[in-house]
Amino acid sequence: MMAAPLVSPIESWAMPEKISNWAGNLVYSTDKIVYPKSVEELQKLIVQYPKMKVLGTKHCFNTIADSKDQFVSLRDMNRMVKLDTEKSEVTVEGGMKYGELAPIIDEKGFALHNLASLPHISVAGAVTTATHGSGLKNGNLSTQVVAIQFINASGEWIELKKSDGEKFNATVVGLGALGAIANITLKLQPKFQMRQWVFEKLPLSQLRDNFETIESAGYSVSLFTDWTTESINEVWIKERSSSPSAYGGKPEFFGAAAATKNVHPIIELSAENCTEQMGVDGPWYERLPHFKMGFTPSSGKELQAEYFVSKQNAVDAILAIQKIGKQISPHLFISEIRTIDGDDFWMSPCYKQPSVAIHFTLKQDWPNVSKLLPVIEKTLEPFNAKPHWGKLFTMSPAKLSTLYPKMKEFKNLVAEFDAKAKFRNAFLSRNLYGK
Ligand SMILES: Cc1cc2nc3c(=O)[nH]c(=O)nc-3n(C[C@H](O)[C@H](O)[C@H](O)COP(=O)(O)OP(=O)(O)OC[C@H]3O[C@@H](n4cnc5c(N)ncnc54)[C@H](O)[C@@H]3O)c2cc1C
Repeated sequence: MMAAPLVSPIESWAMPEKISNWAGNLVYSTDKIVYPKSVEELQKLIVQYPKMKVLGTKHCFNTIADSKDQFVSLRDMNRMVKLDTEKSEVTVEGGMKYGELAPIIDEKGFALHNLASLPHISVAGAVTTATHGSGLKNGNLSTQVVAIQFINASGEWIELKKSDGEKFNATVVGLGALGAIANITLKLQPKFQMRQWVFEKLPLSQLRDNFETIESAGYSVSLFTDWTTESINEVWIKERSSSPSAYGGKPEFFGAAAATKNVHPIIELSAENCTEQMGVDGPWYERLPHFKMGFTPSSGKELQAEYFVSKQNAVDAILAIQKIGKQISPHLFISEIRTIDGDDFWMSPCYKQPSVAIHFTLKQDWPNVSKLLPVIEKTLEPFNAKPHWGKLFTMSPAKLSTLYPKMKEFKNLVAEFDAKAKFRNAFLSRNLYGK
């Protein structure tokens, strides 16, 4: 998978002219990049280049976005195209970030059902890798999509709507393989207020015995842990102000104690970068993400990996990881456990399966992390764990293909929209085609 160089931060600083990903662990394989300002320009560029990749906000940790030939960035195509207040739908250009979109729709009285931990990522880049937030009844961010408009490898404008059924389901989580998403239409709901409550040191035994109840304690629940003790370090409960959690404002939650001040998921770090907690009301887009738009999310200099298991297997999978906690913790900043409802998207890790994602924010030490990931993957193998498409993993393409029942049909669709493999990079060649 690591066809492109994963470099130490020192090496990447020494090559300032190169384009790196957000975390700085990856220097992309070309620095050739163009910034179209319109759909027409984008179409011309796609016709012009025999090989290329569309680059979003560069938040993936692996080489899924990489190209050795040419990048097209939709940085300058970040406008709202249409807000349909009748249908509660918004259409945005392919370069728009959630953090740019959210205040605009909020002002008009609308909200998205969920967001990822950070608002800095582009809608198109997030949707194409099945990026998710948390919540037992909340599908990933791709489930907000009701229509997708992209330019295929021949420069043609393709539009697919939810009513197109399976072809739409095949396209939304497209892994950047089908074309350049020029516009994307998202389903909205009325805007809402939210608040967050944090509890510290949840005994693991409580999680084992009450997993479903704990995960149902709010609209969106996240568990943060470092696997070093018999407790989950922090439980973040995000509730809609109009349907308060039974636990908000209480001193205790299944043996965990209410935090007395705002905290960072990595307890040693300042909570300044984090969205407001302690039950303070705020708009949905300033509570659903853990990190504020204007601030560095997470730790910064880090690596990330994440694995999805079915909800039924979640407790066993978490306990299995806890058993290898001593191997993980020297390389770990923090882990996060979240729930995601099932969906219909062929290449989504949550395809037809309500899921639990076990995430690892790791130190930026690829030599050691590359040895650790196979251990985590082996531990989670009995639970058919699938890796996040945008994060690091070492699983073989053969194994991946067994986890995606629609992989073959997806590749047929790729052939239809991109017959000459214009958008196929080393990541796709390896992970979809085993080359
Ligand atoms: C600090 C941090 C926190 C994160 N938190 C979460 C989280 O809470 N939940 C989660 O699931 N993930 C999370 N991620 C991962 C992140 O959401 C995904 O990696 C996401 O895909 C990044 O989007 P991007 O715009 O940066 O895309 P890029 O990394 O730039 O590209 C990703 C893929 O999208 C394609 N692409 C981008 N734009 C287009 C377009 N317009 N048309 C066609 N293809 C396109 C690229 O070709 C590539 O294949 C996090 C990452 C970081 C760094």
